Amino acid sequence: MLSYEQAREKVIASVRAMRGPLATETVELARACGRVLAQPITADRDYPPFDRSIRDGFALRANDAVLGATLRCIGEIKAGSGFDGVVGPGECVQIMTGAAVPAGADAVVMIEHVSIEGDRIMLSRPATRGQSIVERAKEARAGQQLLAAGTRLGYAEMALAGQVGGHHLSVFKRPRAAILSTGDEVVDVSATPGPLQVRNGNSIALGTLAALTGAEGESLGNAPDEKIELGRYIERGLEADLLIISGGVSMGKYDLVEMVLGELGTQFVYDSVAIRPGRPAVFGVCRGKPVFGLPGNPVSTMVTFELFVVPAIDMLGGAEPRPLPIFRARLAQALREKSELTHFLPARVQTVRGETEVSVLPWQGSGDVVTMAESNAFVIVSPEKLNWDAGEMAMVLPRRGVL
Ligand code: AMP
Ligand code: MG
Repeated sequence: MLSYEQAREKVIASVRAMRGPLATETVELARACGRVLAQPITADRDYPPFDRSIRDGFALRANDAVLGATLRCIGEIKAGSGFDGVVGPGECVQIMTGAAVPAGADAVVMIEHVSIEGDRIMLSRPATRGQSIVERAKEARAGQQLLAAGTRLGYAEMALAGQVGGHHLSVFKRPRAAILSTGDEVVDVSATPGPLQVRNGNSIALGTLAALTGAEGESLGNAPDEKIELGRYIERGLEADLLIISGGVSMGKYDLVEMVLGELGTQFVYDSVAIRPGRPAVFGVCRGKPVFGLPGNPVSTMVTFELFVVPAIDMLGGAEPRPLPIFRARLAQALREKSELTHFLPARVQTVRGETEVSVLPWQGSGDVVTMAESNAFVIVSPEKLNWDAGEMAMVLPRRGVL
């Protein structure tokens, strides 16, 4: 059986191999957050466009700036304004953060390091050449590529695009993810379930995960555990860019998803992964589309989406697959696991006395959405180390959207 890392790699390799040219659209900058650039962004001019002071203080000649020197102040420059004169020997100009350093000056001394008397200043520290100045074009040259196509637009990328004049951007269309739940016992969340029925929480989870990941989720509703009808639903799902199915992939008599996918010509890439929850997860390619069969237990559905579906959506959306954002945190309690499988345990990360600590939450297994909603992370326990003491540094996977 594949490890989750191997299964992820297989998803990435399969989607890379099958991915054709991707559709693009133009969006306003203000609406581009989270989107993936389909064009590079280049500098429209030098950055900074002039030698910029990064302090409030005095622009002067570094040669003059020995300890205790007294200089004559010949004017002031605020951000956005220029200065016509030249700073000569023994002179300085008061300058504000963001203003252009005047001709003749080659250093800025911050205001905290001078004493001022009338138009004279006395330096309480020596200055060096270039101090507190960012030279023209030190950040970027005009024409230089700043963001490559394939970059996801977070807040810094958005600010940079705006700074260089990118008010309309070409981005990749969000991939359309068809979402299909299965099971005769599943009813819509708007329905009142019979005593033995369950509401379709998985389609809500999958739609939310799709949105958080940058896909356009399209719920197809719920298919019954019946081959012909299930096949029809799946064929409809194959019209989207990828298909995500929940339920029907375990060993039960009515787990028909794998069989129906096989009859529709799916090339399976894996049909189980060495994880708990999520072991029966299936991935394949059917009629040129990636298809995920995720186990129906709600926590299994969530974990397998995080591990395997996210990189596929990334790539179908024009980006490189994001790495799993795993970090280490100090365990609040001892753990004793017994398994050949890698466990993903709902957990809560918090700051305790200035340190990041993680507690595994008591839970009722992979159907327990109540505990999932209390968690903000998973602790990952692999078979290589099943016994953990309190205080050891455990592997933590943040839960998308909440940590
Ligand atoms: P399955 O993977 O189809 O064997 O389902 C495993 C468990 O998950 C069963 O207890 C199902 O009732 C439950 N389940 C399956 N699909 C859903 C769904 N869409 N929403 C909530 N629970 C589900
Ligand atoms: Mg089922």
